[in-house]
Amino acid sequence: MPLSPGNACKHIRCINITKNKNGYCDEHKPVATRPSTHARGYGKRWQKLRKWYVSKYPMCEKCNEKPTEEVHHIISLRERPDLLLAIDNLTALCLTCHNKEHRGH
Ligand SMILES: [Zn+2]
Ligand SMILES: [Zn+2]
Ligand SMILES: [Zn+2]
Repeated sequence: MPLSPGNACKHIRCINITKNKNGYCDEHKPVATRPSTHARGYGKRWQKLRKWYVSKYPMCEKCNEKPTEEVHHIISLRERPDLLLAIDNLTALCLTCHNKEHRGH
């Protein structure tokens, strides 16, 4: 039905009409399956910046022993989503250091 104004939200008990492809209204659309790392989900500009950053800092900035596997945001994006592409807020970490970083807070 291409002309339909929308579909009822799939969420049980929701009466909103939605045009979202996944069938949920904005309130109920499933939280995009969270990427386990920072690698995905922040858009193309981030992907590019991340790649560039890794090529600039191929080794973990913390332990300097292992190759960079994550570009970590020093101030979490939860607090400052606007710092996604702020180079000063980035640090290259290996998986081990990255895990520590996220556990430590
Ligand atoms: Zn809904
Ligand atoms: Zn490390
Ligand atoms: Zn991180």
